[in-house]
Amino acid sequence: MIYFDNHATTPCDRRVVEAMLPWFSDQYGNPHSDSHEMGRLAAEAIDQSIATMALAIGVAPESVVITSGATESNNLAIRGFCQHPRQKKRHFVTVATEHPAVLDLATEMERDGFRVSRIPPYSINHPRAGCVDMDKLADAIDDDTALVSVMWANNEVGSIAPMQEIAELCHKKGTILHCDATQAVGRIPIDIRGTDIDLLSASAHKFYGPKGIGFLVVGGGNRRVRIKPQIIGGGQQHGRRSGTMNPAAIVAMSTAIAIAAQEMTTTTARVQSLRDKLWKGVTSQIPGILLNGPNLSLPDRLPGNLNITMEAIEGESWMAATPDVAFSSGSACSSVDPRASHVLMGMGRSESEARRSVRFGIGKFNTENEIDNAVKLLVRAYEKLTDT
Ligand code: PMP
Repeated sequence: MIYFDNHATTPCDRRVVEAMLPWFSDQYGNPHSDSHEMGRLAAEAIDQSIATMALAIGVAPESVVITSGATESNNLAIRGFCQHPRQKKRHFVTVATEHPAVLDLATEMERDGFRVSRIPPYSINHPRAGCVDMDKLADAIDDDTALVSVMWANNEVGSIAPMQEIAELCHKKGTILHCDATQAVGRIPIDIRGTDIDLLSASAHKFYGPKGIGFLVVGGGNRRVRIKPQIIGGGQQHGRRSGTMNPAAIVAMSTAIAIAAQEMTTTTARVQSLRDKLWKGVTSQIPGILLNGPNLSLPDRLPGNLNITMEAIEGESWMAATPDVAFSSGSACSSVDPRASHVLMGMGRSESEARRSVRFGIGKFNTENEIDNAVKLLVRAYEKLTDT
C-alpha cells in the first residue's frame, strides 16, 4: 500500500514508539501519586515532556493543557471560553472552511443562544484560495464578539492563514483568537507567543505521534484567558481537564514535536518536491485536471498537500479503482460523512466538481519510488474508468 493520506493521520515515527514503550509496563506509576517514587517519576516525565513541547512551539509550559486530541481541544477552547461565567459577549466568528470539530460546535453554540458568523474563504481563483477572506473577517467582528476561531492550515486544500495578521486584527477589535492548528503543528514553523495566539489546538497523530493525544494552549499570547473546564473530576491539570494523564502518550507527543522541529527544514523540502512530482506526474498524463487551493508553494500552502478536480471521473470511483494507493475524496479525515466537500464548495466549486475531487497528503516517509508507482497506478485506473 502506498500511503498518501497524511492529512488524515501519519504513521507513528519508530523513535516515538521507542520513547513511549518504557511508560507502559516498566514505569507505570500514576503521575498524580506523589507519595512514591514511581508516581513522581511519571510526573517528572510529563513535566519534562510538556517543557520540551512548550519550547518547540514558543509558549510557557503552564499554558499547555493535555487533551485527547484536537476535537477535545477545540471543544475546550470554544465552549470553555464562551461558557465561562464571566463571559458576557454572545457572538462567535469562524470560517466556513473549518473542520467539523469547529463548525458543528458553532451550530451547537447557536442552539445555546450565541450569534455565529461563518466567514467565507477566498475563492478558487484567488492566489490564497481557501484561506479566510480578511476583509470579511474584519467586517464581522463587532463589540459583542467573544471569540474568533480560524484554522492555521486547512485539512483539505492546505491553505495557510496569516495567523499573526489575524491575531492583530482580533486584538485590535478587542476579541480573543482561537486557532485550530491541527494540520500546521509539525509541518510549518509555529511560534505561538510570537504570533500572539490566545488559544491553540493540536493532535499528535498529525505529526507522527500516536492517536488519542493532543493539547490545547490556553493564554498563549499576551492576554489572560479563562476557560470553563469541560471534563470535571479529580482536578488534574489545575482543574482545567480532569482525568489521569497518560505518560506514555505525552512522552510520545513531546518526542514527535521535538523531532518535527529539528527536522523541519529538510522534511519540508523533501515533502514539497515529492508533492510537486505527483502533481506533474498526474497532470502530464491526465487531461483537464484543476488544482484546488492556493499556489503550490510556501508560505501559502502546506508542503505535502495536493487537492485536484478531475474532468471525467468521481473521486470515489478513482479511489475504488486504485486500491493500492491510500488517498481520500471529499473532506474525509473520516469517511463517516458522505457529503461533498464543504471546503471546495465554499471556495466556489460546484457539487459535481467537489465530487470529482481528491486529496493527497504526502508525508515524510514517502519516497520518489512511491510517487512513480502511484502515478502509474492512478493513470492506469483513470484510463480504465474513462475507456468507453
Ligand atoms: N481539526 C483539523 C483541522 C483536523 O484536520 C482534524 C483531524 N482530521 C481535527 C481537527 C480533529 O482531530 P482529532 O480527530 O485528532 O481529534
